[in-house]
Amino acid sequence: MKMLWYGLMANLAIIAIFVTSWTHAKDWLAQHRHRGEPVAFGATMGLGAIAVMAFPVELSPGIFFDLRATLMALAGAFGGPIAALVAVGLAAPYRLALGGAGAPVGVVALLIPAMIGSGYWLLLKRRESRGWQLFSLAIVTGIASASTPLMLPAEVRMAVLTQVSAPQAMLIACALMLSALALRQDDRRRVLMQENSAYRTIIEALPDSLNVKDPEGRFVTANPATARLMGATSPAKLIGRSDADFYPPEVAAAFAADEARMIEGGEILAIEQVVHEEGGKHLWLSTLKVPLRDQNGEIVGIITHNRDVTDRKILALELERSQTHLEFALAQMTDGVAIFGADARLVYCNEQYRRAFPRSGPLRVPGAHIRDILRGAMERQEQLGIDDIPAWIDEVESALFRENEEEVHLFDGRWLRVSTRPTDDGGSMVVVSEITKLKQAEFDLLGLAEQLKQQAATDGLTGLTNRWAMDQALEAELQRTGREGLPLSVILLDIDWFKPYNDHYGHLAGDEALRVVARCFAQTFRRPGDIVARYGGEEFCAILPSTDEDGAYHLANVFRGALARRALPHAESPRAIVTASLGVATYGSAERRREAAEIIARADEALYVAKSAGRDRVYGWHPRDEGVQKARPSAVQGA
Ligand code: GH3
Ligand code: MG
Ligand code: MG
Repeated sequence: MKMLWYGLMANLAIIAIFVTSWTHAKDWLAQHRHRGEPVAFGATMGLGAIAVMAFPVELSPGIFFDLRATLMALAGAFGGPIAALVAVGLAAPYRLALGGAGAPVGVVALLIPAMIGSGYWLLLKRRESRGWQLFSLAIVTGIASASTPLMLPAEVRMAVLTQVSAPQAMLIACALMLSALALRQDDRRRVLMQENSAYRTIIEALPDSLNVKDPEGRFVTANPATARLMGATSPAKLIGRSDADFYPPEVAAAFAADEARMIEGGEILAIEQVVHEEGGKHLWLSTLKVPLRDQNGEIVGIITHNRDVTDRKILALELERSQTHLEFALAQMTDGVAIFGADARLVYCNEQYRRAFPRSGPLRVPGAHIRDILRGAMERQEQLGIDDIPAWIDEVESALFRENEEEVHLFDGRWLRVSTRPTDDGGSMVVVSEITKLKQAEFDLLGLAEQLKQQAATDGLTGLTNRWAMDQALEAELQRTGREGLPLSVILLDIDWFKPYNDHYGHLAGDEALRVVARCFAQTFRRPGDIVARYGGEEFCAILPSTDEDGAYHLANVFRGALARRALPHAESPRAIVTASLGVATYGSAERRREAAEIIARADEALYVAKSAGRDRVYGWHPRDEGVQKARPSAVQGA
């Protein structure tokens, strides 16, 4: 009986040795990335089977059994068909070599559990075995193996079945269950190790600092980034030390206080903090501290994650600063600035922009659509001079998205220049400048120029066209009438005895008399084309297009009559009133060659003759080839 237990123990010990050896061999193979794992496993199990066959258990005299089935089933279940094949391939020749009547049955006893194991492996498809699955495998293998004696010759079959089968089935199943649990545990350990190593690799490579401290603030583990942050040469140098060993006392104390508070409250701490480095450099850290708890929920440490956010922080600060500058500039500038989005809605505007439009200003807020703003401006009659409002709104909206400049006249008399520029993102930037003063200056200049032009052409004393403008007009009229075959007459007027008038009444009275004569002369000529000018001191000239000699003559005498009726007293004149002498010259329709100097000279000549003839009369000029130059005496002479 003692021998039975020895044999049994030896069998179990062999299985334990081979299973344990395999777990070590598998680690070695994994490290060396060996691909022949199923073959090696099969071989290990095969050799194990040979070993157990070498130390069989003698249940009763002459009746032996061993645990080969356990090893064959393990080979199939944990290594697959290849491992099972290798195991059988090694163990079967050994069993055959042992010989005896039971040799073929012995080989079958190897094959059956190997096939059961392989079937199990194929069914599981590399998933991890559940407890009940392993149990089923053990029971099936145990029963199947215990049934192999059925193949023995009839004379031994009964003895073996009755004496061996039940304990054999139980022992095979138990050994298989235990070994399978050990292998499954080993696989789990391996998966965990792999996961661990993956995490470790990630943590080591992480640019962020990650570490664990014990509740007293001493480093338990730290990644290389933590070592870099603390200025240590390697993570190992941190273990067992605390912040106080690396930072100034007050900084370390602040950190310690944070951590103490965390451990007390057990909450997560997320902060952004500045660390002063040597050389006055600032380091911004985004820090997350999480309590590390054991299985009972007790806090056993602190996990700290630090991310260097200095670059981001500096960028944010710079952005903030430039934004402040920009806002200041926009607030201080005199112009109004607005930005519209591609959807024609207001995105931004400064206060000046709103103030530039006193009535629609409250509508000009971010989000408002340009059409609504314009409609509001029209309802409030903010802008002047718009007749077709819908068309105007369409036009302004489309102008918003092209380079455009417009002058806007507001209800309160102010003028604005509104410039639009398209922006890169499909929107528009609008700049509004007040140009009221500029516009006023423009108007003033325009008025001044007009005035100057008139002044340049007008005689100051009488308000008639002056000599310079008259010369221009005469030149133009001579050409025009000459082209069109129309007559043109010129009347020259000189006041009689005017020097004595001045001497008698004074220069100011003389000026007034000049004005009276000028008005009288100008009123004589009513056609729009007639030009009346002050020719010299007390000499006047009328240019009469489309007027022949008789017409001119007639008008000159009409004037004489009017002046006589005006009856300005003239003490020094033989007539006792102010009179004038007039000379008329005419280019007839047929005369195409016309010259200003010539017709003026002729009128002057006629005037001279009128003076010579006694003054206060009208004389016309006639060509010398008619004999003596003949001045036609006035029809109303002596009136
Ligand atoms: P006559 O009948 O021959 O024309 O005699 P008159 O004295 O008018 O002689 P003349 O035509 O040469 O006169 C010129 C005078 O007209 C000189 C000046 O006293 C006067 N006179 C010319 N221009 C002005 C003016 O602008 N104002 C005034 N008050 N007198 C002027
Ligand atoms: Mg004169
Ligand atoms: Mg005169």
